[in-house]
Amino acid sequence: MGIRAGSGGLRTLATAVAVLMHVWLWAGAAAGETASATRASLSGDQHRTTFQLDLTVGVPAEIYTLANPYRVIVDLPDVEFRLPDGTGQDGGGLVRTFRYGLFAEGKARVVLDTTGPVRIERAAMTAATGGKGIVFAFDMVTTDPASFGLGTGADKAAEDAPEKAPPAGPPDDKPKRTGKAVIMIDPGHGGIDGGAVSASSLLEKDVVLAVGKELGRQLAASGRYDVHMTRSSDVFVSLDQRLNLSAKHGVDLFISLHADSLAVEAEAQAVRGATIYTLSERASDEQARRMAEKENASDLIAGINVVDGPDDDEVKSILFDLMKRETANFSADFSNTLVHKLKSAKALSRVPQRAAAFKVLKQTHAPSVLIELGYLSNPEDEKLLNSTAWRKKIAASITTAIDDYFSKRTASSPGLSRK
Ligand code: ZN
Repeated sequence: MGIRAGSGGLRTLATAVAVLMHVWLWAGAAAGETASATRASLSGDQHRTTFQLDLTVGVPAEIYTLANPYRVIVDLPDVEFRLPDGTGQDGGGLVRTFRYGLFAEGKARVVLDTTGPVRIERAAMTAATGGKGIVFAFDMVTTDPASFGLGTGADKAAEDAPEKAPPAGPPDDKPKRTGKAVIMIDPGHGGIDGGAVSASSLLEKDVVLAVGKELGRQLAASGRYDVHMTRSSDVFVSLDQRLNLSAKHGVDLFISLHADSLAVEAEAQAVRGATIYTLSERASDEQARRMAEKENASDLIAGINVVDGPDDDEVKSILFDLMKRETANFSADFSNTLVHKLKSAKALSRVPQRAAAFKVLKQTHAPSVLIELGYLSNPEDEKLLNSTAWRKKIAASITTAIDDYFSKRTASSPGLSRK
């Protein structure tokens, strides 16, 4: 089999001015054949750790490193991951944990969180012994922070970074209004970012997508709304992309769906139920602050190099001012209506309305809430979150809250008529 690394691709990174590593297989997949990853493993120790991914066919791979926090990113084309549940959660050697999944349509990614700065060595794709499949492997060795710099992929990640959210103010070209209220459902996480995980490996990204789709179906069935989703499959969508989609569609209401998890066992057993979050520069309490920190880390988790420019703080405060004036009251309104509906469904947590600086809620044009549907760390909640009947029920409660909210708004705002 004609396997070799491309010339200039397999370079050892000897200096701080490092290059991306490209590893690829010249002769591999038949046209149209999708590669599957069937096994992923770590071996070695705190000085040299080998990551190995078994593939059905060879694919081009790009490996690079990022700082803040230290990560190794592996970009692959459309690879289907058929790995056992929980793969990557325990880590080993220089790797704390790793995750994998779709980063964008047709683009898969593996992100390894490393214990410190590392250098990539000996990357290769070779035929598996026995001739069936391909072994893709590389070594990570410790390096010092100065040599590591921002990582080999800092420039690349900046180029790849999804578009920034549009500046404050209404979108220039408003989409054609159908007369129906425009609702955007935002299932959190997706693809490489699995979100929270339950004891039985139920993933937040799958739960919120299922509830989001059910909610979309119920809203669309009413004929009253123009419904959009930030994602309708298991794909990663960055926080900026979510904000951009909301602005592009000129939405009247943005609903982000999540599910939480608590690490401390005693809390995990006791705490359950849904919580509704609205945007606030200052968190309502410590739990809300931690929650926003977790959810805002989505881009880091997916291997995006997040760099806040010097102007960002100023922009943020302008956004906040506009936001406060124009949409905060509507967000609070919807949150109240929603709490009322979820209370009748007996689905609420003990402090069901909280606020914090969630990036995905930083919208100047649309009232927005983030619903934590429940706790994957709580056994009873986990059962509900995994149940089709419960998903239908919670979607129905949210739908009636949306109906109530728009009935009230339509009555008080002639500009927002619906058929
Ligand atoms: Zn989440």
